[in-house]
Amino acid sequence: MNAAYAGTHLCESHFKRSLVRRVRRRVREDSLLPGDATPEDPETWVIGLSGGKDSVVLAAVLADTFAEDPRVELIALTIHEGIEGYRDESLDACEELVESLDIEHELVSYADEFGLRMDDVAAEDPENMAPCAYCGVFRRDVLSRYAAELGADKLLTGHNLDDEAETALMNVFEGDVRQMARHYDASLGPFDDRNEVSGMLPRAKPLRDVPEKEVALYAHLADLPVHMAECPHADESFRAEIQEHLLALEEEHPGTRHSILAGYEELAALAAEKYGGGAEETAGSCSRCGSPTTRDVCRTCRLVASVHEAGAGIDE
Ligand code: SF4
Repeated sequence: MNAAYAGTHLCESHFKRSLVRRVRRRVREDSLLPGDATPEDPETWVIGLSGGKDSVVLAAVLADTFAEDPRVELIALTIHEGIEGYRDESLDACEELVESLDIEHELVSYADEFGLRMDDVAAEDPENMAPCAYCGVFRRDVLSRYAAELGADKLLTGHNLDDEAETALMNVFEGDVRQMARHYDASLGPFDDRNEVSGMLPRAKPLRDVPEKEVALYAHLADLPVHMAECPHADESFRAEIQEHLLALEEEHPGTRHSILAGYEELAALAAEKYGGGAEETAGSCSRCGSPTTRDVCRTCRLVASVHEAGAGIDE
């Protein structure tokens, strides 16, 4: 494996060890496992498992890391968005993985939760937005609620270095400093440094030091069950545009993603100091579902209502 950003070439076994080391270092540096976790009162970590390479690699590395450590319990949570020819196949990968890792697995769907499928939402598009703008809101809602129901202390997702560098650039390009603060406090900063975000389950992204291609290579070399297909709606987003630019920059200037994220983390920490993660902005609760929100009705409930009003719900 050739890592141009580090000027290194690694053989298969050194590469695999290097990836595992980076994930474990991130778990340590972000203080994911608090000192008061015990076998009698373990930490429960819910992993958002899509069946794609990132979440599969994350689940496999963490299951291996904590296999002999009774202070950590892992539960995999999969969301079915209702995307034809994409999610059904990836579910097979999820099931094969959780069986081999011997971890609990829960499955929830937008159909059951909101009475809608993403394919219909994307076709109808009542708010004139990219499909991912709806899907991201629905996913965050379902992940948070179910992770809480499962007794999670933390929600872990498989975002890799490319994903996080893209998010950083999106926040910078949108000029949204408060969003940077929320990003830091909700999922980016070390747990010891974060401000509490009211009503939000803490999140972490232990794969965020690892470039996307290396995650894919690890999944291949470790022979993990992975569903490689892209969501058909993925290329319709602002993120897809950023991704294209970022890959071109990385090609010309190896190390760009690492430096973007390192600088962004410092900026986001400063933003969090100033804006306190926006905790005060989520002080109220939704009059329909009770989720934290600044408005009378939260964004999830407003979007779900809009989809149903447009006749794109499946229980119309
Ligand atoms: Fe949802 Fe967009 Fe991800 Fe597809 S690419 S699953 S629409 S967030």
